Amino acid sequence: MSAKIAILPGDGVGPEIVAEAVKVIGCLREDYGLNVELEEAQIGGVAVDATGEPLPEATLRLARQADAILLGAVGGPKWDTIERPRRPEQGLLAIRAALGLFGNLRPAILYAELAGASALRPEIVADLDILIVRELTGGIYFGEPRGVRTLETGEREAYNTLVYRESEIARIARLAFALAAKRGARLCSVDKANVLESSGLWREVVTRLASEYPQVEISHLYVDNAAMQLVRAPKQFDVIVTGNLFGDILSDCAAMLTGSIGMLPSASLDERAKGLYEPVHGSAPDIAGRGVANPLATILSLAMMLRYSLNQPQLAERVESAVGRVLAEGYRTADIYTTGTRRVGTREMGDAVTGALRTGASC
Ligand code: NAD
Repeated sequence: MSAKIAILPGDGVGPEIVAEAVKVIGCLREDYGLNVELEEAQIGGVAVDATGEPLPEATLRLARQADAILLGAVGGPKWDTIERPRRPEQGLLAIRAALGLFGNLRPAILYAELAGASALRPEIVADLDILIVRELTGGIYFGEPRGVRTLETGEREAYNTLVYRESEIARIARLAFALAAKRGARLCSVDKANVLESSGLWREVVTRLASEYPQVEISHLYVDNAAMQLVRAPKQFDVIVTGNLFGDILSDCAAMLTGSIGMLPSASLDERAKGLYEPVHGSAPDIAGRGVANPLATILSLAMMLRYSLNQPQLAERVESAVGRVLAEGYRTADIYTTGTRRVGTREMGDAVTGALRTGASC
């Protein structure tokens, strides 16, 4: 039976970069026998324009039926002034919540060829390969009560609640332990257990679970120290697991170690490894429609889909090594271009990756 992939290009550069990942899927079908069917739907601003909703019912239905979802990006200045519940970004939050996508995987990988793009010295970041696992559906972004109230003095006060249940912590920790076991077998749990009760429980649950994964070496860091260590010596990490708020910040920090937002993929998984795969970057309205966006983050998101939802780890590696090969051959979109390399547009980069994949198939 074929697997079904929902394709949600979204806004801005979304359709341009997703088209290149779809090209790669076409190559995997023809040359490697990948058995998948694709169906496209709208999300974000384009969906608001067409239906009034950032996540139309038909899109959610398709996403529920699909085995995996590939998303481009949502948002843009055109929709920045409409009321908040109908903004494109709400479509993204809604689909994550509706599908129970609690585990956000953000690899930060720096291909040696791009080490010069990092703000850090090449010897600190070259060949970096770390994975941040962020809890995505709990914590302070969802905790109740929340709001803004006016005190008796007339002054306003805003409040949010950082709450984690043991089951939520155990679920994300198990995912992180399992991922670490398949990589470098080192897991660092990040919290603020010296100050926050929710972090105290977090540390307790992670520590208890560690005995079920004796092959994984566990360590704990406070979030402030983790931020420092990420910039000081990032290669000390293999997998990092943390809550929603800390993960949001640390994963962007880790992303920037690589220097190029156009290279960073992500996955958001549910309990049965169904996932939504998308580049870390946004809709890049400043370059949309010009054919210059880097499609590699989306193509690498597809590789994550092959590995985590479609159970095709060898094809995932093929795609990742095809990306490595085009970089080694000097292909660069504008965001990663340096003198002496070969500047190409979105389509040419997609073509180069499928070309490298095809060559790989015949040898
Ligand atoms: P952005 O990531 O879209 O762009 C930041 C900078 O990176 C821009 O200069 C852009 O040109 C560049 N960039 C991004 N992707 C690139 C690519 N593939 N190739 C080359 N350069 C690339 O962030 P922003 O400008 O803060 O946000 C723009 C819109 O995207 C906003 O509406 C925002 O809400 C939305 N957004 C969506 C998502 C998402 O869909 N997951 C994530 C972040 C932001």
